[in-house]
Amino acid sequence: MSFEIKDRDLLARIGRLETKSGVIETPLLLPVINPTIQSISPKTMENTFDCKALITNSYIIKKHFQDKVAQKGIHDFLDFTGVVMTDSGAYQILEYGEVETSSKEIVLYQEKIGTDIATILDTPTGWATSRTHARYTVKQTLKAAKELTKIKSRDDIVWVGPVQGGQHLNLVARSAREMGKLPFPIHALGSPTRVMEQYMFDILVDMILTAKMNLPLERPLHLFGAGHPFMFALAVALGCDLFDSAAYAIYARENRYMTEYGTIRLSQLDHFTCPCPACTKNSPQDVLSMPETEKQKTLAQHNLYASFFEIKRIKQAITEGRLWEHLEMRAHGHPSLLQALKRLQKYSEYLEKHSPITKKSGLFFFGSLGQIRPEVVRHRKRLSKRYSPPKKGKILVLLPQTPMRPFHKSREHQRILKEVEQKIGGKTHNIHVCTYAAPFGIVPTELDEVYPLSQYEIATPHDLETTNYTAQQIMEYIMTTNYERVVLFWDTNLWKRNIVTTCRRTCKKRNIPLVVLKLRIPLNKKTLEKLATSMEHLNLRTLT
Ligand SMILES: [Zn+2]
Repeated sequence: MSFEIKDRDLLARIGRLETKSGVIETPLLLPVINPTIQSISPKTMENTFDCKALITNSYIIKKHFQDKVAQKGIHDFLDFTGVVMTDSGAYQILEYGEVETSSKEIVLYQEKIGTDIATILDTPTGWATSRTHARYTVKQTLKAAKELTKIKSRDDIVWVGPVQGGQHLNLVARSAREMGKLPFPIHALGSPTRVMEQYMFDILVDMILTAKMNLPLERPLHLFGAGHPFMFALAVALGCDLFDSAAYAIYARENRYMTEYGTIRLSQLDHFTCPCPACTKNSPQDVLSMPETEKQKTLAQHNLYASFFEIKRIKQAITEGRLWEHLEMRAHGHPSLLQALKRLQKYSEYLEKHSPITKKSGLFFFGSLGQIRPEVVRHRKRLSKRYSPPKKGKILVLLPQTPMRPFHKSREHQRILKEVEQKIGGKTHNIHVCTYAAPFGIVPTELDEVYPLSQYEIATPHDLETTNYTAQQIMEYIMTTNYERVVLFWDTNLWKRNIVTTCRRTCKKRNIPLVVLKLRIPLNKKTLEKLATSMEHLNLRTLT
């Protein structure tokens, strides 16, 4: 049983998980099959939807079918040749308080029916439970996990070690740490269903990342009960590899149409904009007038297609290195998702540490959310920890960002520096040029071709947070270096006054002179002449 990682972006990965019924590629959505009610049969899932794996409930199967399934095996019983994962019945414990089975019984039953990925009988924490109860569920789940090695008799089944603790993050951390010490090839995060139903995605971010930070990173993580395509990108970006969805069928029963950006009631739809077979063959009015069973089936088909399509888009985004851009787009589908993305600020250092360093593509920045991105955090860390400016550079010349990259090759930078050179009589050896640019802050000229400092696009004008962040970076840079003077070329077109006031305050604190020269990018002949005059007036020669 192995999990091989092929591609990564943020904490997401495209992986290959080996099971006895074949290899599955993650991130993967496993539709939930209720053996007693099926809107779409496993056979159809396999043949029409190209579904590679599904999940069903071993407790329900045991209760209703007992030995019948044990004799046939789960694959024959479901008429499905792909990978079958079974849940233990933990959800039933959560709903009804208890189940009429023991941990040992449910382990042996899953072995007997020949499931590929099996789950121990964990004790779900649930939502809004006391710390005492949460602690109890963590303890019970760990107990069941430790018992597994004594009970199990087969070695070809991949066992899942669930993490509990609910919204009590220190318990989630402890549960993950202890569970991670046991030899489980897969882990799962339990009880987030209620969190997801109530759109508390920021809390979900806390729960997932607390679990991730305390589990062995190389093991796949399953997110139980995460069935809506509009939050898949978030969960995948945080390192969830497997999902199960009962939502496609539940939503269909409630006449709800799922999309990658939210849910719409069927009665509110005038047009289907989805390219799936269920939507191209019918209009919303056609579906509304269908008999109940057919309507539910058609909607379930669409919901399932919508879910699979989104997983494909996410995988493509990982391959292209554009998962953040995809995530930001999805986050604008619902305020609760945007709130969750903002919560990532808290974990930006962890994200940076575990995100790939190079990518095949440039980065797109749409606003201040981009400051959370690993590339921005990485540049900040490198500049403060690993970079020192050239020793002979006594004068810091701060030039504004230009639309052209690398900055030092832009017409604007070349013209300004030519002007400076003339004014100081060619004595440029003690000048060090840096660009102040959003979202990275300070970009020393000698580094401006290093990825991704030239390989990005940003929307302007900058928002306030972005301007403030850049000002903050300028301040930190001046405070931690030894320049004797600072010359700031202030592009009044793009940058607000806070860039100047921050520079002024910082230089005062360091007790070094600051010269501010105004200009406007793009430079035209008139502004260049004006700049030359103001430089004349300042007598830059005295600076060197
Ligand atoms: Zn559709």
